[in-house]
Amino acid sequence: MTLKNDQRSGTLVVPGERLGVIEEFIPDAGTYVKDGVIYSKIIGRALMDMLNRRVSVYPLTKGPVVPKAGVTVVGQVGNAQSDNVLVRIFEVGAKKKMSGVFGGILHISDASDRYIDSMNEVCRPGDIIRAKVISEKNQIFHLTTDDKNLGVIYAFCSVCGNLLEQTRNEMHCAKCGNIERRKTTFNYGKEEIPVVETVQP
Ligand SMILES: [Zn+2]
Repeated sequence: MTLKNDQRSGTLVVPGERLGVIEEFIPDAGTYVKDGVIYSKIIGRALMDMLNRRVSVYPLTKGPVVPKAGVTVVGQVGNAQSDNVLVRIFEVGAKKKMSGVFGGILHISDASDRYIDSMNEVCRPGDIIRAKVISEKNQIFHLTTDDKNLGVIYAFCSVCGNLLEQTRNEMHCAKCGNIERRKTTFNYGKEEIPVVETVQP
């Protein structure tokens, strides 16, 4: 029972943050144990109950990082139809940590200011896109890429999975020579690649 632990009680913790070891605490709500070490499972406030020797994390009731209308998000394109794609949103605004993973949908009518035949010309599964939330209904976030700083920030060849290079109006694969189209941001390929669990389609 150390002063250090007492002082940590109430501090803001993020998923994966070390809270202590099983020799000193019983892990409780909002925590998980790996190799004898207790970590926070969620974003919240750590509570070190020194009397009962329990550690738990209480979720924040105010100001969780979730997408909302008007906010810019970054996500990976998942399932694609001819007129819409599903997007796994993993970044909201400038904040990297989110309260979970959110699903978004980009419809062809919100993809660009010019006429588009198929979502294949906008983005494809595996691509990383920046989009803006236009509305939210039942935790499904409707997105738009109709702006010069919105659209695909990283595109991957649908034949071989290689990162595509932009040449004028086309996307070129240096590995297999495949040529595709995308609705890219004005600074395509010049941003830091976000950390994602899966990049290949
Ligand atoms: Zn290729």
